[in-house]
Amino acid sequence: MQNGPTDLSAFWMPFTANRDFKQSPRQLGSAEGMHYYTPEGRPVLDGTAGLWCVNAGHGRRAIVDAISEQAATLDYAPTFQLGHPKVFELATRLADLLPGDINKVFFAGSGSEAVDTALKIALSYHRANGQPERTRFVGRQRGYHGVGFGGISVGGLENNRRGFSLLPGVDHLSHTHSLEHAAFTRGQPDWGAHLADELEALITRRGAGTIAAVIVEPLAGSTGVLVPPVGYLERLRAISERHGVLLIFDEVITGFGRLGAATAAALFDVIPDMLVCAKGLTNGAVPMGAVGVRDFVHDMIVDASAGGIEFFHGYTYSGHPLAAAAGLATLNIYAEEGLFQRAGDLAPLWQEQVHRLGKLANVIDIRNLGLVAGIELSARTGAPGARGTAVFQACFDRGVLVRVTGDTIALSPPLTVSPDQIAQMLDCVADVIHQTQ
Ligand code: PLP
Repeated sequence: MQNGPTDLSAFWMPFTANRDFKQSPRQLGSAEGMHYYTPEGRPVLDGTAGLWCVNAGHGRRAIVDAISEQAATLDYAPTFQLGHPKVFELATRLADLLPGDINKVFFAGSGSEAVDTALKIALSYHRANGQPERTRFVGRQRGYHGVGFGGISVGGLENNRRGFSLLPGVDHLSHTHSLEHAAFTRGQPDWGAHLADELEALITRRGAGTIAAVIVEPLAGSTGVLVPPVGYLERLRAISERHGVLLIFDEVITGFGRLGAATAAALFDVIPDMLVCAKGLTNGAVPMGAVGVRDFVHDMIVDASAGGIEFFHGYTYSGHPLAAAAGLATLNIYAEEGLFQRAGDLAPLWQEQVHRLGKLANVIDIRNLGLVAGIELSARTGAPGARGTAVFQACFDRGVLVRVTGDTIALSPPLTVSPDQIAQMLDCVADVIHQTQ
């Protein structure tokens, strides 16, 4: 047991109402398995895998050991014009895990960096292919692709974009959320595949020869869990392929088992040209992002180069030895414990448990797939987000960590969660929603 610090003023907290937080702070002091513990030692059941990243549960000994051994052996090594064994090993392991001919991996330090990397790869690909006028991007309303200037430009969350300069030449597809047509759908909604046709319309309007790439989250997480309609991703793939537009899946949340398969691409059998991942890659233990790239994209850029550096891009921490060691240990755990399959096996029970809450007052939608769920509450009049925040705080006080976006509660526990813990989590959320006006 440890006591928290008393001076909270210096740390400017990200995506946080700093003044509110510092008046009534919540702190986490340690974590083990399915639980966080406050500095005073109070357990908090982790309903969100940290921030959608601790897929194998907390405090995994093999990951801890791998990181500490790596720190003692090779604490840091650049990957510019130099290499170290673990980064090559991890790239190979990751390429093996990613579907189709996604056989090349570019490492970054976070999901945001990986997204911006993928956008730059798309531009470089078209330039190398003799189509330098393909500079436009297509994103989607309510999409979240991190906080770099590229990511907020293709992203569609207005609060993250407002007031910042954005990349020129970006269009957005409609999001796929519809209370009218798909509320309380279990799994993928039947309604909504037609929304992918907006890509065809955009291509006609802008001219295919101007568009570099389209980027979507297969399942939109941060905006409040929007499950892709049946056939939607397949249609995006067909249209983009027909017009030579690269398709990028941002799998920062859906990668590493969240939906019951290694990736959403594998689950839906839709192979994008690039696949962005992060978070679960290292079980959240060391920051790392990555872009998986199909052979033809990589080869076009590398082969077009007359010599020297082919792609002027990279980070000091691309393939950091500690992250590479953590990544290898994490992928071992996923494989040894069959955690992706486990998530798929638990999904029917999860679905049944989350949809119990559909009867509660103020619940206006429930969405689920794999081991993720969104529970959307009606907004209080004139105070959007207030009801969601109240539920988050009450759940935390009662020992369950949930995540809230506006008035949607998002749940995404570690894939190691037990059926009893699922029931405990949903009982708590149900009680709290029931008691929250
Ligand atoms: N893309 C998606 C789909 C995400 O959910 C996130 C983070 O939640 C990011 C990108 C950004 O990742 P990071 O916060 O590691 O930069």
